[in-house]
Amino acid sequence: MSLQERDKKHIWHPLTQHKIHPDALPIVKAKGAVLYDEQGKEYIDGIASWYTAMYGHCNNYILSKVTAQMQQLDQIVFAGFTHEPAIQLSEALMAILPKNQQKIFFSDNGSTANEVAIKMALQYHYNNNEKRTTIIAFENGFHGDTFGAMSASGLSVYNGPFTDFFIDVVRIPTPNASNIDDVLGALKKHVATKKIAAFIYEPLVQGANAMHMFEAAHLNEILKICKANQVLCIADEVMTGFGKTGKKFASEYIEEQPDIISLSKALTAGFVPMAITTCTQKIYNAFLDDSVGKAFFHAHTYTANPIACSVALAAIELLNSEEIQRNIERITAQHQEFNKRIKTHSKIKATRQLGVIYALDLNIDMDRYGNKRYKIFNTLMSHGVCLRPLGKTIYILPPYVITNKQLEKVYSAIEKLLEIV
Ligand SMILES: *Cc1c(COP(=O)(O)O)cnc(C)c1O
Repeated sequence: MSLQERDKKHIWHPLTQHKIHPDALPIVKAKGAVLYDEQGKEYIDGIASWYTAMYGHCNNYILSKVTAQMQQLDQIVFAGFTHEPAIQLSEALMAILPKNQQKIFFSDNGSTANEVAIKMALQYHYNNNEKRTTIIAFENGFHGDTFGAMSASGLSVYNGPFTDFFIDVVRIPTPNASNIDDVLGALKKHVATKKIAAFIYEPLVQGANAMHMFEAAHLNEILKICKANQVLCIADEVMTGFGKTGKKFASEYIEEQPDIISLSKALTAGFVPMAITTCTQKIYNAFLDDSVGKAFFHAHTYTANPIACSVALAAIELLNSEEIQRNIERITAQHQEFNKRIKTHSKIKATRQLGVIYALDLNIDMDRYGNKRYKIFNTLMSHGVCLRPLGKTIYILPPYVITNKQLEKVYSAIEKLLEIV
């Protein structure tokens, strides 16, 4: 039996309608920016495997660090015990995070990072004897697939079976030059009429919402109103974190700083799953009390797994390196050149870029998970390039180690695609 047939026997894939969607493609190896299938055919990973493997797949530096850690300490209960990789990671993160962040709390993935953030915000007000039970979120934001994160996600078009069980969320549109006054007005009304605990947002770029981008100045106005009304600001930097926007965190573009930040994806560079929720000293202090009842009773078995921490630590060392910082500038400049060459193409409706994130909207009609999407995906794959279209949007978010030549191959595959859509 082929790998594909064995896969089909027992495996249920995510975001997949198994009755109609094509079979999964086995990948046997990955190195740097390249994926290899069973036949040895190469594909450039133009989205760094959902923006995780930003330092390249199976990065040698991370490999050396993680193999050493695996021989030293694999796992230890993090309630009552601690270890050097977690401590070093906390120090490395504090050196690059917005200055108001002081404490880090571990979990397993982007959804749980946001779940923790939301629970932290709700309990912060509860511990302060204030009843605040509603969350504000952007329309079309994405924060994950667990219940709290899913409730906050406006993009939940396929979440019909669960909507009866959502936590209380109200929404505002993402701001732009023409709607900003209405958005601020709607926000003020929510804040005045409801018990708002927190505002959760993806700063500047909404990944799952087809890389929709908005202005830092507009977001700053929103955050100011939240801050003035004791609404905790939760920056979901699961996608935007660790250099992708051209700064280490997208929040650095914005004056008002978040109270809580969610991190995952590139945190562990594609090696193992882990997430971190960071917060200010003020939030942490609200959980300190002589009674145990005010403590934060949230834990996952693998909290702060030492192997995952050692990966994250090595990844931050790479992010801080001159080489990776130069690569980010190089890719940013190369995207700009590509944009000049392609933006007026008749098949393109709009393009946008921030740092190494580049997106273009096709000027055609299609469904998010419809057949045309698979045709576009397959065409790009036939040219040796792996990109996952989000509806009509094709985006590139390559590993920082991608070479100019590899990136040119990605652009050229898109140009060939434009000839046939
Ligand atoms: C991917 C993502 C999540 C969810 O992370 P998972 O690890 O898939 O649970 C949450 N927020 C944003 C902005 C994301 O991009």
